[in-house]
Amino acid sequence: MKKLVLASGNAGKLREFGQLLAPFDFEVLPQSAFNVPEAEEPHITFVENAIAKARHAAQLTGMPALADDSGLCVSALGGAPGVWSARYGGEPKSDAKNNAKLLADLAGVADRRAHYVAVLVLMRSADDPQPIVAEGEWHGEIVDAPRGAGGFGYDPYFLVPGTGLTVAELPHEEKNRLSHRGKALAQLLARLRAGA
Ligand code: IMP
Repeated sequence: MKKLVLASGNAGKLREFGQLLAPFDFEVLPQSAFNVPEAEEPHITFVENAIAKARHAAQLTGMPALADDSGLCVSALGGAPGVWSARYGGEPKSDAKNNAKLLADLAGVADRRAHYVAVLVLMRSADDPQPIVAEGEWHGEIVDAPRGAGGFGYDPYFLVPGTGLTVAELPHEEKNRLSHRGKALAQLLARLRAGA
């Protein structure tokens, strides 16, 4: 198995990337296993934050690093919470506070369209001049009442069109296949297979 450090401390992401990359012979290890602290995410675009996180993990471990920056963009909120998705409800960050703020922001709003975005960056080393950058989107709608126990974050409120189910109600294989992260990863793997 080839080792790859994941520049994230999020247990949900580690589980999902582990499942998605196992068939490709990658062992995904969390940066916490190497005592790498969470990197700053000061930027206003997903791609800039993902590059900053991957470079930080590669620098401190000397290993190839994978980073993702992801979030939820709600049409009626001008793309918010966007890069602030993890801390939308304030510090200390919590899914419950984020979801409560999202619902409060959308009270009385008819347009419920939203999409998840994931940008993935794979750096072979901290000074890799040509990291692989891949991006995926997953479009849906925000509902008022939470449903399901799977996934994480905004999943109980994110309705998947055509299924009648929230992301938290989908089996994890189904989420991995349809999700923003799944799509970004498929793109990344295609690039790797093509010799990037
Ligand atoms: P990041 O760790 O900076 O990428 O923050 C991502 C945040 O976006 C998470 O903490 C969640 O709030 C939200 N998010 C990203 N992907 C998902 C997902 O698949 N389901 C639910 N929430 C997500």
